[in-house]
Amino acid sequence: MIINHQTIKNDFPILSKKINNYPLTYLDNAASAQKPKSVINSIVQYYQEEYSSTHRGIHYLSNYATERIENIRSQIAKFINAKSEKEIIFVKGTTEGINLVANTWGKKFLHPNDNIIITEMEHHANIVPWQMLAEEKKLILRYIPLLPNGTLDVTKLPFLINKKTKLLAITHISNVLGTMNPIKQLIKKVRETSDAVILIDGAQAIMHKKVDVQKLDCDFYVFSGHKLYGPSGIGILYTKKKILNIMPPWEGGGSMIKKVSLTKKTTFNNIPWKFEAGSLHSSGIIGLGAAIKYIQKIGLNYIENYEKKLMRYTLTLLKKIPNLILYGTDNKIGIISFNLKKHHAYDVGSLLDQYGIAIRTGHHCAMPLVSYFKVQSMCRISFAIYTTKEDIDRLINSLIQIQYILNNKKNKIS
Ligand SMILES: *Cc1c(COP(=O)(O)O)cnc(C)c1O
Repeated sequence: MIINHQTIKNDFPILSKKINNYPLTYLDNAASAQKPKSVINSIVQYYQEEYSSTHRGIHYLSNYATERIENIRSQIAKFINAKSEKEIIFVKGTTEGINLVANTWGKKFLHPNDNIIITEMEHHANIVPWQMLAEEKKLILRYIPLLPNGTLDVTKLPFLINKKTKLLAITHISNVLGTMNPIKQLIKKVRETSDAVILIDGAQAIMHKKVDVQKLDCDFYVFSGHKLYGPSGIGILYTKKKILNIMPPWEGGGSMIKKVSLTKKTTFNNIPWKFEAGSLHSSGIIGLGAAIKYIQKIGLNYIENYEKKLMRYTLTLLKKIPNLILYGTDNKIGIISFNLKKHHAYDVGSLLDQYGIAIRTGHHCAMPLVSYFKVQSMCRISFAIYTTKEDIDRLINSLIQIQYILNNKKNKIS
């Protein structure tokens, strides 16, 4: 298939907007991606013609909506190659998925002095739930260290693992540096030396590359719909069936029960519904189904190759800008963080905004990683399938102008 990137851009209505009289150059995709027309239309159509409560009613609309939701569960299972659709749980997003694991599996199976291994490059969503659990259950947290090139020092792993290691929770791709972690090899190593359970934070990986949970052999895989061109407020927690079967429920309420009485013990629904208390975010699920259909039409292998080429192109140009510091240089996809020497990331980001260029500045919800590089904030650009060389050229030209403006300002003041 020959893919025309202008056609892809046209699929995303928001990208034709002007910001400050400049065409929008949206480079904040690691925070959230924009939505194609097909996703927006699927939600409109659902509310206009098909909407009802799901998993409850006996009437036509409710049955129809329920069937659609359950079909999308199967579609998602196929998308990540899960063995069964029963292994797919609808959650609000990556954050809720990880908290669900900490509060169910974690609370039941972890004991004082057990240890959990995470890494120095995690998003706060994959640090804080474990810290909270560690404090409550007297667990020990261990960290795989970072190297200056932005990769993990995996040679340290054998020194961190022992019989008391119960969990490895690690990001597939760093949300700050774009580093792709060698997940498959890491999982293999962990399996050889311990019975630890493995959770992968796939919030970034899911939009940049093909994910196969059976090939990876992970126990949990979590991602958010809104970073995958889908709606916000919906995400997926994949869990291997053998673990799901022994995990207690987390939130209690409607849908997750079999029988409730005021005097006898409540019995719970089968998996996966046992973990989905309350009314589902059904329009979010419909939109997520449409988003997955959209990217499958383009193909994740194509997306990965395209973004790798765009990465090489962008890095070559960024390296030519004097006094630009790049953070993490190896094994990257989709994400680049940098600073202009002597200038605050916030100033750079605000000036880029004047040219219609949307980037992210700050600590990127990964303070430990950002402080590893001895700074408080970084500028981050991140790609999506609609990012083109023209977007990158516009960024580079604007950065050169901005550096000139900021240098002159500093000189005048001093
Ligand atoms: C965005 C992100 C999260 C959090 O996702 P939410 O959708 O905000 O729950 C977690 N981990 C990584 C690596 C992320 O990029």
